[in-house]
Amino acid sequence: MALIVQKFGGSSVADRDRVMNVARIITDTYKQGNDVVVVLSAQGDTTDDLIEKAKEINPNPSKREMDMLLTTGEQISVALCAMAIEGMGYPVISLTGWQAGVATDSNYSAARIKRVRADRIRKELDKKKIVLVTGFQGLNKYDDITTLGRGGSDTSAVALAAVLHADLCQIYTDVDGVYTADPRKVKGAKKLDEITFDEMLELASLGAQVLHNRSVEMAKRYNVNMEVLSSFSGKPGTKVKEVVKTMEKTHVSGVAKDTNVARVALVGLTDKPGMAFKIFSLLAKEKVNVDIILQSIGRDESKDISFTVSQDDMARAEEVMRANQELIGFDSIEVSDKIAKISIVGAGMANNSGVACKMFEALFSAGININMISTSEIKVSVLVDERDAENAVQAIHDRFFGEFGEA
Ligand code: ADP
Ligand code: ASP
Ligand code: MG
Repeated sequence: MALIVQKFGGSSVADRDRVMNVARIITDTYKQGNDVVVVLSAQGDTTDDLIEKAKEINPNPSKREMDMLLTTGEQISVALCAMAIEGMGYPVISLTGWQAGVATDSNYSAARIKRVRADRIRKELDKKKIVLVTGFQGLNKYDDITTLGRGGSDTSAVALAAVLHADLCQIYTDVDGVYTADPRKVKGAKKLDEITFDEMLELASLGAQVLHNRSVEMAKRYNVNMEVLSSFSGKPGTKVKEVVKTMEKTHVSGVAKDTNVARVALVGLTDKPGMAFKIFSLLAKEKVNVDIILQSIGRDESKDISFTVSQDDMARAEEVMRANQELIGFDSIEVSDKIAKISIVGAGMANNSGVACKMFEALFSAGININMISTSEIKVSVLVDERDAENAVQAIHDRFFGEFGEA
């Protein structure tokens, strides 16, 4: 007998038939003698629809009230699924995030889990019940409802798996597992049997939305045995783990695209010490996270610095720079959100100098211009125009994973 945490995403519980399908997967697992804790997301596009509804009332609602609203979606899912399981004759109980003891900080809309007091879940498991828990939500120290950020149900599931010392955490979704690129958008994307936590964390952070990046971070920290699989196909999925058998062989595991990127360029900066310090300390004070930074070689005592931020931070970054134009000393500022970041990820690339070159060659062959480049031990990212993004991903993917690819 094992303790298994199963998480089902929005499309897996989108309508009546899918809820019934999920109820069958859960009860089959239970029938085999396992303890089962289930985390559910809101049905289909419910969360997006609720965001639209809020905007009709107030274009700029407080984050606290947004969290209050958005958490209702998950509550519908667990109640309906519990009813389906009841109807099939199995003992079951649904719990909200706070009933399940998920304590978070007070950063509404992007709260972090501080601890999980899982006594209630354990009590219900002792009574041999299947326990359904709302994903994405928790409670802060003021007893107010918080959410973990979009896609956060994955993190709820991993947190419960960690605290309960579950034998397995299964993330059921609408694709068969983790692929070498988004299988809905990239021709020839291949399913990976396994991937390391480190590579998955990079892929998730660089735009592959199949897993919430914080869920991978947490799974790595608590060594949670994690698997991504489809709630529709019944096929084996992708195991996410510390070490994988194939690690030595491949240089690149996947390609990811992130369109939530904006670029800020400061033109005509005076070329003198302390310039970068001034710019980035002003941004840090405003809690603007900077990603890629590019500085041109100074010429005629003047240079340019460009950097990228998330699109949500673009306006704030521009505002701070403009407000301090005199202090920093630059001629003009240009901002653009019509860009995308394309990345390749692979633990094996650290010792292979040709990997980045292959990526650049693929882009060159496709006639795509690179705006910025950033590299680390296990990834290379490039910034391209948004209109080139899809072609760029396909060209890079073909180069590494196509017929003549050699990832
Ligand atoms: P859920 O609602 O189950 O949480 P998500 O929509 O959050 O599902 O994530 C699943 C989606 O992630 C897939 O439908 C797929 O389009 C997308 N995706 C992006 N990159 C990848 C990848 N590398 N492997 C698998 N799926 C990916
Ligand atoms: N329902 C939330 C969202 O759409 C959380 C999740 O699905 O993980 O972002
Ligand atoms: Mg998701």
